[in-house]
Amino acid sequence: MGKGFFNVPTANNEPVKSYAPGTPERDAVLNVYNAMYRSTIDVPLYINGLYVKTGSTRTISPPHDHKHVVGTYHLADQVHVEKAITTALEARKTWSKMPWEQRAAIFLKAAELVAGPYRAKINAATMIAQSKTIHQAEIDAACEFVDFLRYNVQYMTEIYKDQPKSTNDVWNRVEYRPLEGFTYAVTPFNFTAIAGNLPSCMALMGNVVVWKPSDSQIYSAKVIMDVFEEAGVPAGVINVVFGDPVMISNTVLASPDFSGLHFTGSTFVFKELWKQIGNNIHNYKTYPRIVGETGGKDFIIAHKSAVPKQVSTAIIRGAFEFQGQKCSAASRAYIPKSLWGEIKKLVIEDVNSLKMGSPADMGNFITAVIHEGSFDKLATYIDQAKTDKDSNIIVGGNYDKSKGYFIEPTVIVTTNPKYTTMCTELFGPVITIYVYEDNAYAETLKLVDETSEYALTGAVLATDRYAIAQATDALQNSAGNFYINDKPTGAVVGQQPFGGARASGTNDKAGSAQNLLRWVSPRLIKETFITPTDYRYPFLGE
Ligand code: NAD
Repeated sequence: MGKGFFNVPTANNEPVKSYAPGTPERDAVLNVYNAMYRSTIDVPLYINGLYVKTGSTRTISPPHDHKHVVGTYHLADQVHVEKAITTALEARKTWSKMPWEQRAAIFLKAAELVAGPYRAKINAATMIAQSKTIHQAEIDAACEFVDFLRYNVQYMTEIYKDQPKSTNDVWNRVEYRPLEGFTYAVTPFNFTAIAGNLPSCMALMGNVVVWKPSDSQIYSAKVIMDVFEEAGVPAGVINVVFGDPVMISNTVLASPDFSGLHFTGSTFVFKELWKQIGNNIHNYKTYPRIVGETGGKDFIIAHKSAVPKQVSTAIIRGAFEFQGQKCSAASRAYIPKSLWGEIKKLVIEDVNSLKMGSPADMGNFITAVIHEGSFDKLATYIDQAKTDKDSNIIVGGNYDKSKGYFIEPTVIVTTNPKYTTMCTELFGPVITIYVYEDNAYAETLKLVDETSEYALTGAVLATDRYAIAQATDALQNSAGNFYINDKPTGAVVGQQPFGGARASGTNDKAGSAQNLLRWVSPRLIKETFITPTDYRYPFLGE
């Protein structure tokens, strides 16, 4: 502990730059993008601060141009994963004792590096790796990542300040210890910010980490490691391994020192990891913390009092930004019959105006989906919807993977509220709409609640306040993030802590103190100033 009660800088959200034609940020990001596109990188494992090149490699290609190679990355075998674990445990000896203000300074510096000198690079890397448009890259890789880093430092100090009551003769103190052992971060492809946040927030709280990024996010994961390194994260504190997820997880979860899983990804994988942790429970030295943010089947319900243009805009932005590959993306909508004619016209007009192609052309709103597996899955559901009797594609429905994995934004209308695409997470630019009778609002709210196993995000659009109140009540457990008169995406750190329940996760709210609390194990210290010297209590007297 330093000699002073230090205040950290007040956290603020990083302003989103516009990238409008003629702005300096637009030129900067395009220059970096083009330079990256024309060269290749070779991404090593990061173990104990060393760059480990195993010689077993895979290529990295942008989803919007999958024959073009922008680099290679090295694959770990079991020995590398074991080495990552032992070096993390070794680093723990010093890192867990590092004064908090030193840890804070490292991650505050990381925030400034991303906001400043690394901004164009991390955005361009996210455009290449995950095919995000510049706007989607900016709100994720730059701004949300910076926000996570800044706000987490502030939340850490708020947690440390939370202390019990003391009396004149007894001083009670709580020390927020890092978890004993090492932690494991498993991150998804879709957000560079999440990839950076999951390992760094555990490290900020004094933990050491083995991090396994998604195979589809490695180009931007490398930039995250460059930032951490330059910010001063010491060797061994965050170790990165790529490769076979099953082998890596088996090795990590077999260690008696495993103490926490910080996961974001699909529900099935999280449940498998949880099961495996349960099966190993007798081997662990401590009960591992398990935090997982997983899938969604996020909804929009419009009431008959809604404004059609607001509903169609919420559908377009909510369902199709980043090709519908946000966990919060709207993928089912419930529209009252009296508004459907108008909303249908607006949605079709808007979808027909969306341009699709490479993120390097900034006029494009839609780019490619992440990989061939995702493309094929989406194409299968779209083909099915073309032939099923209870579904009808009103706009979109074409796809082409000759150059990149391009799926047209697609709107399916179904007469069956339990139609497969109303229930299953597709994770692509496809939304399914069910049109309900205006006077069946209450029944439709029930349908919304009961149709999917998930409960991540959802939105109600209405001008009638009774209708809003009714939806807020009926959908209490249907979404962890509930939006009124807005699209169900775009949570901002420090403003809308994010996470869902049911099959959508443990709802530990990324971007909040609640999440950081999972990565500490409090120790209560009671200090008595006048220590008793006689066991007899007054009641024992004659
Ligand atoms: P995914 O589950 O395929 O992969 C996530 C991570 O798990 C990757 O690192 C992957 O390599 C790893 N993995 C895959 N199979 C594994 C296995 N058998 N054992 C161990 N690890 C394994 O998910 P994805 O495609 O990268 O991301 C999309 C999913 O993430 C969607 O379901 C989306 O809803 C969800 N998501 C949720 C949130 C949220 O906050 N709730 C945020 C982002 C993404």
